[in-house]
Amino acid sequence: MSLATASDLRIEPIPAYDDNYVWWLADGRTAVVVDPGDAAPVARRLSQTGLQLTAILVTHHHGDHVGGVEALVNATGARVFGPAAESIPCLRTRLKGGDRIEVLGHAFNVLDVPGHTSGHIAYHSESLGALFCGDTLFACGCGRLFEGTAAQMTESLAKLAALPGATRVYCAHEYTLANIRFALAVEPDNAQLAARKRACEALRAEGKPTLPSTIAEERATNPFLRCDVPAVRARAERESPGAAASTVATFAALRAWKNRF
Ligand code: ZN
Ligand code: FE
Repeated sequence: MSLATASDLRIEPIPAYDDNYVWWLADGRTAVVVDPGDAAPVARRLSQTGLQLTAILVTHHHGDHVGGVEALVNATGARVFGPAAESIPCLRTRLKGGDRIEVLGHAFNVLDVPGHTSGHIAYHSESLGALFCGDTLFACGCGRLFEGTAAQMTESLAKLAALPGATRVYCAHEYTLANIRFALAVEPDNAQLAARKRACEALRAEGKPTLPSTIAEERATNPFLRCDVPAVRARAERESPGAAASTVATFAALRAWKNRF
């Protein structure tokens, strides 16, 4: 059996709630969704396309990511993949870091990325050049620390930042412009960041998603991946004394600053 090439497969966002994206992956016959917080827009897409939903990939247990799972399973019988360490509706395949699954002819590696929640996982497909990272890494930002520590999140983000630069980042929320405003407060002189702001503003003005981004773009502009850059450390130190002591301390200071930004 040969693996499908990336061109066989379409990846599209289905908007849900105010700012969630349910990612839709489809070949000519079947579809898979990631983090269906709401069943209704997915059901509409299924009936519009006539495709069969075969699998649901879940990154973590929050309602805006799993709210549609049960209704979709009842309607389609799709198999649910998700984190072994969290309580996920209809979970059939329990995953942890190092596991490998095959979906739509593509292999996906499972990464443990605790921090936002303690059992959060991400899915990376080398053949697709795609990362589905839920609420861990956002475009120019990262998830809040609801269940994990700054040290855990720093390590999780480093794991994602180490993926190939061309990897497309499919995160679960359209938070990019707000994240860029914060990033510019951290690094006002980052020219790539300024360019990113203009590009993302243009996309939003046309009603288009700012996603996916790429790992290379995140490394260059996302302050939470740049906690070892001297200018970022120095800026964090000015905001909260002691923050320059380590990468984790800088991360913790930036995350706390963003929360009150
Ligand atoms: Zn979440
Ligand atoms: Fe979320």
